[in-house]
Amino acid sequence: MDEIRLPPASVVVLVGPSGSGKTTWADANFAPTEIVSSDRLRAMVGAGEDDQRASTAAFAVLDQIVAARLERSLLTVIDTTGLDDERRLGYVAAAAAAGMPCFAVGFDTPAEVCKARNRAKPRPIPAKVLTSQLSRWRRVRTQLDAEGFAAVLRPEPVTVVPAPHVTAPLSRTRQAESPAALRFGLQISSFTWAGGPATLGSDLAAIARTAEEAGFSSLWVMDHVRQIPQVGPEWHDMLDSYTTLGLLAGITERVTLGALVTAIGYRNPAHLGKIVATLDVLSGGRAVCGLGIGWFEKEARAYGWDFPPVGERYAVLEDTLRLLPLMWGPGSPEFRGRVLHVPEAMCYPRPIQDHIPILIGGGGERRTLRLVAEHADMCNLFGDHAAVRRKLDVLAAHCIAVGRDPGEIEVTHLGGALVHRDRATLRSRLEAMRPAHVTADQLGETLNAGIVDDHIGRYRELAEAGVQHAIVAPPDASDLDGITAFGDVIAAFAG
Ligand code: ATP
Ligand code: MG
Repeated sequence: MDEIRLPPASVVVLVGPSGSGKTTWADANFAPTEIVSSDRLRAMVGAGEDDQRASTAAFAVLDQIVAARLERSLLTVIDTTGLDDERRLGYVAAAAAAGMPCFAVGFDTPAEVCKARNRAKPRPIPAKVLTSQLSRWRRVRTQLDAEGFAAVLRPEPVTVVPAPHVTAPLSRTRQAESPAALRFGLQISSFTWAGGPATLGSDLAAIARTAEEAGFSSLWVMDHVRQIPQVGPEWHDMLDSYTTLGLLAGITERVTLGALVTAIGYRNPAHLGKIVATLDVLSGGRAVCGLGIGWFEKEARAYGWDFPPVGERYAVLEDTLRLLPLMWGPGSPEFRGRVLHVPEAMCYPRPIQDHIPILIGGGGERRTLRLVAEHADMCNLFGDHAAVRRKLDVLAAHCIAVGRDPGEIEVTHLGGALVHRDRATLRSRLEAMRPAHVTADQLGETLNAGIVDDHIGRYRELAEAGVQHAIVAPPDASDLDGITAFGDVIAAFAG
């Protein structure tokens, strides 16, 4: 059976004559609070659902409720006959103004069935009224496609999924038929776990081992000294990046290890080269050097670090990119860059890898991606497949300009993901986690929540866009079941 997949911020307009099954379908597929029904509002402002004299008052309230829900991007199902052209087009316009897709669901139930259902009702509507609705429906049915709806759908069962998962069933099928290879990384970005600091070390060890068993190829931590606002409150636990990577190096055997990404201003760049070389040696050659210009000014200032304007931070990054190969190479050459001076760029032991891969984080089109083309082994992008394609086009242009083969640059992608094996569990997790002002579906979209098949489909689309290494940031890495479940996604891309 076909299925309708809707993103949480959708407007759904039901269209069909009385008795065609609109309310029955809406009740079966949506929560009562998501359905705005003219009949039910008639009952609330009048004598009952069929109190036609209460229509004006009922539609006034309906419009107000729809407006309030759209204001907050709440999934809204409008259960009226939908046969009034002006009202229907009004919903399309209101959804567009709210930046929400508007779907029509047409109820093409045979006229005889509608009539029979009407006759069976305890209070049938007059036969003449139904006949006029049926003839209006025959006209409206032919014009719906041209009215600006995101899609005109048939009343199939509904699944609400994050927008990037809407097309997952098709892309998952493509992956099953001709598998694309994709490596996966796990980013651990929060450390406020049930056991507190006393068990942080052993919790991390369990996460790292579980991730390696699940098939992850890399482990990443952020380089922050306090939690970032995108993830949690600033007083939440945050571990020092490279100390943590040292622990992970000792626990794991196979995964590569890196900071996503090291903020360029937080350490003397020569010292950073030394730290990364040490990580490489202690991990047996598994270090990746992630670099970026940093952005969290409040955090930097709190530690008394300089936080110069963007242009100056880029200058330090560019110098660091030239310095690091000298640090990791033979001898102790002097390095004189634009802003950095290192009298003796030396570090022993030298790294185990001949060349520690350098990843530059960010999709800045003018400077960041140019630096990637010039110096980096890996880029790190965000967003959906369309965003990735756009950034990779820009990167390819920079590569041509500097004479670099884009094929040498590994394309990594960072994004959140919450996975569970079944939708019911996923739903109850989201319901338990959601803040008061956010619906479970909205939180699901923020966290990119899905079952294994949803994620296979979405990562297939990212792979098709050019991603080779998808780094996954789960909302809670200490949920080991989630990591293990993600192993089923990884297995689908094992190549
Ligand atoms: P109205 O515009 O009058 O509110 P409606 O389109 O909302 O009509 P419903 O109330 O959903 O229609 O359905 C009318 C009757 O048809 C109900 O008694 C319901 O039980 C029956 N019905 C609806 N959908 C189906 C279905 N898919 N299969 C069988 N019976 C159905
Ligand atoms: Mg109804």
